[in-house]
Amino acid sequence: MKHLILFGPPGSGKGTQAKQLEEKFEMVHISTGDLFRYEIGNETPLGLKAKSFIDAGELVPDEVTIGMLQNKVNMHPEAKGFIFDGFPRTIPQAEALDLFLEGRGECINGLIALKVDDEEIVQRLLERGKTSGRADDSNEAVIRNRIDVYKEQTSPVYDFYDEKNVSQEIEGVGSIEAIFERLSTAIEAL
Ligand code: ADP
Repeated sequence: MKHLILFGPPGSGKGTQAKQLEEKFEMVHISTGDLFRYEIGNETPLGLKAKSFIDAGELVPDEVTIGMLQNKVNMHPEAKGFIFDGFPRTIPQAEALDLFLEGRGECINGLIALKVDDEEIVQRLLERGKTSGRADDSNEAVIRNRIDVYKEQTSPVYDFYDEKNVSQEIEGVGSIEAIFERLSTAIEAL
C-alpha cells in the first residue's frame, strides 16, 4: 500500500491533479474539502458544524475532521492506497493520521507539495469563485485568511514529514499536463 499526501496552499491545484492521479495510480482520492461540502449540501449535523468555519476561511476543528477522515478510509477496504488531499492540515491531524495508519501496519510514503505563490493563488481562487458557487472563493479577505491559516497551521505539516524524509516540493505553476507529469514521476519514484 502506498499512501500519498498531496499538499499545498488552497488553489494550488491539488483537487484537479488528484482526480487524474487517482485514475492513473488506482488509488482512492480523499478530499476533506469535498467531504465537508457534501455534508453541508445534505445539511447533516457534521455539515452544519463545519459550515461557519469554512465560510470564514478557518479550519474545521481537528476532532471533527479526523473522525470524518478515518470513517472515509474505513469505507474503502479494497483500496490499494490513498491520495489525501486537504488533509492533514494541522500537526495534530498529521499525528492522528500516522497513528491511525500505524494501527494498520502502514505509513505515509510521500508528501508532495505544489508550490504556487500568494498572488497567483488569490487570482485563481477569485476566478474559481465565479463559477464554483463556493462562498469561501468569492471574498478576497476570506481567501487571504485561508492563505494565512495555511502558512501558520498547515505549512508545519511539510516539516513534520520532512523530518521523516518523505516530503518534497514541485513547481505548481504551468500547464495541468506538465504538472501532472512532474507529479507522476515523483509518485513512481516513491
Ligand atoms: P482549498 O483546497 O481551496 O483550500 P478545500 O476544498 O480543500 O479547499 O477546503 C475547503 C475548506 O474546508 C477549508 O478552507 C477548511 O475550512 C475546510 N477543511 C478542509 N480540509 C480540512 C482539514 N483537514 N482540517 C480542517 N478544515 C478543513
